[in-house]
Amino acid sequence: MAELTFYGATEGVTGSAYLIETARATVLLECGLMQGSREEERLNRKPFPFNISEIDAVVLSHAHLDHSGRLPKLVADGYNGRVYMTQATNELLEIMLKDAAFLAQRDAQWENKRRRRAGKGETDPLYTMQDAEAALSLCEGLPYGHRQSVADGIEICFRDAGHILGSAIVELLIIDGGAKRKLVFSGDLGNSYAALLRDPEIVEEADVLLLESTYGDRDHRAMDETLEEFASIIAEASENGGNILIPAFAIGRTQEIIFRLGELYQMGKLQHQAAFLDSPMAIAATEVYHRYQKVFNREDSAALRRARSGSLHSFLPVLRYSRTTEESMALNRIQAGAIIIAGSGMCNGGRIRHHLKHNLWRRSAHVIIVGFQPVGTPGRALVDGARTFRIGGEEIAVKARIHTLGGFSAHAGQSQLLSWVEGFRKNRPKIYLIHGEPEAKSTLRKRLSQQGWQANVPDYGTSITI
Ligand SMILES: [Zn+2]
Ligand SMILES: [Zn+2]
Repeated sequence: MAELTFYGATEGVTGSAYLIETARATVLLECGLMQGSREEERLNRKPFPFNISEIDAVVLSHAHLDHSGRLPKLVADGYNGRVYMTQATNELLEIMLKDAAFLAQRDAQWENKRRRRAGKGETDPLYTMQDAEAALSLCEGLPYGHRQSVADGIEICFRDAGHILGSAIVELLIIDGGAKRKLVFSGDLGNSYAALLRDPEIVEEADVLLLESTYGDRDHRAMDETLEEFASIIAEASENGGNILIPAFAIGRTQEIIFRLGELYQMGKLQHQAAFLDSPMAIAATEVYHRYQKVFNREDSAALRRARSGSLHSFLPVLRYSRTTEESMALNRIQAGAIIIAGSGMCNGGRIRHHLKHNLWRRSAHVIIVGFQPVGTPGRALVDGARTFRIGGEEIAVKARIHTLGGFSAHAGQSQLLSWVEGFRKNRPKIYLIHGEPEAKSTLRKRLSQQGWQANVPDYGTSITI
């Protein structure tokens, strides 16, 4: 018998955290950052709602910050046990957490300048580079399919979730004498249309299933339609001479978009002179992807085989990396003909903001949104048709064309979620829907119950028995 308490991703898609407690051990599954509006992000500073000294192990499903980004704070607050994840997640996490710590320190510096001018006391960063490094020193990467004991009476096994490189579905076995209970956490499940990753692995058995529901209320368009639309936006932009901005998460979407641009280039459909990857973190992640490509690529695409047989440069010769701030700023002088991929994917920070400032007001410019935009983020405002966009105290008119290409999503659509759940053939787990906005969860719950599944939508702080 074990108890699981929902400490995150119950109201929306960020801040994942689930605490599993038995008489003998306590395991924290996920330690995610809350992302969205400033008020929401401020919640990351609050103390954790559980006793850190009781935690025996932490388990992470993948490297995205909404699943991992509060780990340095957990360590700064006293956690010093092991943190388990897949091997590729371990490599990507190093890039993610160091970047997050860098940004947290820089934000605190800026905030403190403001505070000093206002005669207020200083604030500390959410965490420091030392905290991130201490957290990384506790991390241990495991291969997929390997069963590992993580605490007294608790074993885990990672299955491929096909969402980003290294992403995992977590199987968690609770062993008490002769009795065994099994929790399956879907993590973020991949979109089976994605080019670079495998489909989420089928799991056949669980007593309790925590299921993500980001796209619980809709399906993505078929990939061939998405690619056609992508090609036509690119053709239109090259005719009317505008730049194309693609806000993208550094890990996952960026590599998928680069691959798709390469496909278009190979087909002679990419007239643009240059595509810039304007993010040191995305460049580093792209290099990790390249290193792991034999492990995670599908075998079935001719373009993929071409991409693998040579360098990325021969696959997409117009791709340029801009690493330094100066290189990034230089892109502001380009008024037409460039494709710029930069973070953050939700437009709430990062280099994409200065590109938006220099392009959003131009009628010829295009912005292509390729990732999920949580409520409250500037990216969501653009998708919802905002007329103006505030950057650094300046109101920028939105005249550019805003396109949303859901088909490039890293998440399974509704039908894909339902068919993955059908894989539980050996017994019917009790399902708890997490990681979705209210509408997505209630729609998915209805669809699941029509098909005979018992699905619940837990509130923050609710405990269940496994
Ligand atoms: Zn994710
Ligand atoms: Zn997520």
